[in-house]
Amino acid sequence: MPERIVPMLTADVIAQRVRELGEEITKAYAGRPLVLVAVLKGSFVFTADLMRHIDLPLRTDFLGTRSYGEGTETTGVVQITQDLSRPIEGEDVLLVEDIVDTGLTIAHLLDLLQTRKPSSLRVCALLHKPSRAKVHVPIDHLGFTIEDKFVVGYGLDWAERYRNLPFIGVVEHA
Ligand code: 5GP
Repeated sequence: MPERIVPMLTADVIAQRVRELGEEITKAYAGRPLVLVAVLKGSFVFTADLMRHIDLPLRTDFLGTRSYGEGTETTGVVQITQDLSRPIEGEDVLLVEDIVDTGLTIAHLLDLLQTRKPSSLRVCALLHKPSRAKVHVPIDHLGFTIEDKFVVGYGLDWAERYRNLPFIGVVEHA
């Protein structure tokens, strides 16, 4: 089915907010070392930009997850496709998500990582769709609240396409 992408957040608007989030996170950790965990694949673009605005000693790690098939509806099942490369016990960990929709993915990942005894575990999400929440998850640092539309671009895909768009837009079917 042919589709078009209607812009929602421009590259400039995203860049400004990501800079602010970086400053907010820098202040929140007050010089302490941080482990930034990017939830793949969707948050790799966001994480790459965000980390360059965080002025702390940090290391990055990656957690691969999959919660959708080829469509746009959640399956409710979170699959871990790639685990962290190092232990996080005793460390300050910030989970970086592209979008919190039903909340199931983050809730699952928080449960999983908590068992590894980090000194703190917080969440930074670029986007949040509160109207779709199935479980409450604390988002410590949030970029934008958006309405219930399926969005792509800036790392977010639709059946693996559109991750390379520099802006975020809504998929509309013709
Ligand atoms: P949740 O478990 O909170 O329902 O969904 C989180 C994951 O679903 C996100 O990391 C993302 O991969 C995917 N997702 C949820 N909403 C959207 C959306 O509007 N666009 C895209 N591309 N992915 C989404």
